[in-house]
Amino acid sequence: MTVTYEAALQKYEPVFGLETHVELGTATKMFCGCITTFGAEPNTHVCPVCLGLPGSLPVANRLAIEYTIKIGLALNCSIASWCRFARKNYFYPDMPKNFQISQYDEPLCTDGYLDVLVGGKTVRVGIERVHLEEDTGKSLHIGGATGRIQGAEYSLVDYNRAGIPLVEIVTKPVPGTGFLAPQVARTYVTELRDVLRSLDVSDVRMEEGSLRCDVNTSLSLRGSGQWGTRTETKNVNSLRSVERAVRSEIARQAEVLDSGSRVILETRHFHEDTGVTTSGRSKEEAQDYRYFPEPDLVPVAPSRDWVESIGASLPELPSARRARLISAWSMEELDFEALRNAGALDMVEATVAAGATPDDARKWWLGELARRANDAGEDVSALPITPADVARISELVAAGSLNDRLARQVIEGVLDGEGTPDEVVAARGLTVVSDDSALLAAIDAAIAENPDVVARIRDGKVQAAGVLVGAVMKATRGKADAARVRELIMERLS
Ligand SMILES: [Zn+2]
Repeated sequence: MTVTYEAALQKYEPVFGLETHVELGTATKMFCGCITTFGAEPNTHVCPVCLGLPGSLPVANRLAIEYTIKIGLALNCSIASWCRFARKNYFYPDMPKNFQISQYDEPLCTDGYLDVLVGGKTVRVGIERVHLEEDTGKSLHIGGATGRIQGAEYSLVDYNRAGIPLVEIVTKPVPGTGFLAPQVARTYVTELRDVLRSLDVSDVRMEEGSLRCDVNTSLSLRGSGQWGTRTETKNVNSLRSVERAVRSEIARQAEVLDSGSRVILETRHFHEDTGVTTSGRSKEEAQDYRYFPEPDLVPVAPSRDWVESIGASLPELPSARRARLISAWSMEELDFEALRNAGALDMVEATVAAGATPDDARKWWLGELARRANDAGEDVSALPITPADVARISELVAAGSLNDRLARQVIEGVLDGEGTPDEVVAARGLTVVSDDSALLAAIDAAIAENPDVVARIRDGKVQAAGVLVGAVMKATRGKADAARVRELIMERLS
């Protein structure tokens, strides 16, 4: 790339949009009774309906409709009082009926929004629509180096996934975020995932494909007031990739535009390894699919009472939780974001519930524990230490029986499987030496070994006392209270 991301954004304004597919966590498929468990033997969760055999007829899954309404309400959408499924006609080997039952011009939920917090500012992402459809099966390409169809010797198809209820959540175009566009896109998907998780409608595992994103990006010349041609980057399957895909498309499109060419309306593929997109197929238009109302299904007409009762049953959503915790913890929004982005929010909340102060809980989870999780290449929540352990360590520090340095050794012991914090303290003999007589011997030794330092302190250069404090801390293997050691040294030399 010759055009850098920074240079691109001096000249162009990015606009992005996201289409997110979510597999719902219903026990059975969208239009038949086949079970939906992930990871079964291929083609064992199939029946005449999801295989598209002649004469079979679909029946809509009531719980999937309820989940979709739930999602729509959580995203502040209007819920249609009457709508229909539509037939989307195209051929693909993993789609046994040769059409997909989806929704077209009559989606169940429309016109909502999701507020996301980026850099301490709230950005409102408009939601165009939330509709319900069925998932396709899965093709496996065998014999090639990349697992793609190019170079493969043969392909296998597994229809277990065919017919699993799939919700598509489409944002409105999001303009005006400038340099923050990639981060806003990522934060939107993170927030959406948290909303879906709180609703308990999907397991939202990006790595298993139950949450998948397509990212639309376009650039317009700053001040031109005209939006450029968009590209659609398919199947961006991690939060990090969402950010990278937007970033990489911004730089690529700027290079195309700077060279005097036009951006082509097309589908592009994101490559995890290189972080760039490559051209896929030219983008088909809606009319290519020959949509028409699905003749085998009755319309969906949720009663107002039903919609209201679903609305009344919504749990606390992430935005409400955020407002509640920021207020209860007297925390800055930026600090809260850091916790959320580090995946430490649940742990900090549980640590506070176990008795630690919010500041202490945040300090340990974002500091020492985040560092150790990072070293181990794990999520902070996967560390073998509980919020109750961290609360106990904070309590020992607050009581003065541990200092931060000893507390870090206790954490190390707990992570190494040496037991609870109290067991590690007992086994390793980790307690602050607060008995002055035990410290005085070490202080006298330090004074005797450093006559030059003593002379400087007596000359009024009191900051030189740090050398003596350090020597005492070393001699006591970190178990002394540094502030008390400094006091005793100054008393000794006065
Ligand atoms: Zn079936």
